[in-house]
Amino acid sequence: MEGLTSSEIAGFVVGALLLGATIAAPKVDGFIASSQRRSLGMCKRCGDLRIVACSQCKGTGSARSGGMLSLGMLDDLYESLGAEAKTENLVPCTKCRSRGRLLCPECSKVA
Ligand SMILES: [Zn+2]
Ligand SMILES: [Zn+2]
Repeated sequence: MEGLTSSEIAGFVVGALLLGATIAAPKVDGFIASSQRRSLGMCKRCGDLRIVACSQCKGTGSARSGGMLSLGMLDDLYESLGAEAKTENLVPCTKCRSRGRLLCPECSKVA
């Protein structure tokens, strides 16, 4: 029978995982490969949750008040150095209003 293939079962598992992970931790983006989501007929950005992790603060709800350009690489550098300035200039993320999550741009524009 073709009703329930292994990929469909995987889809249910993925959906459950996404739901739980998104509630628990907003860093779900990238958890599932976009190609896998697409093959499951889910939104490739959010997996049909209509929520995506904020790209500006990476789902943390806080953004560095310093230059946006240096955020990525310097972030890693600071962390590997254990710099104490790490949390000093964190400000609430304006993009997601400190929620760390945004409405999925793919889904919300369709709706
Ligand atoms: Zn944000
Ligand atoms: Zn979406």
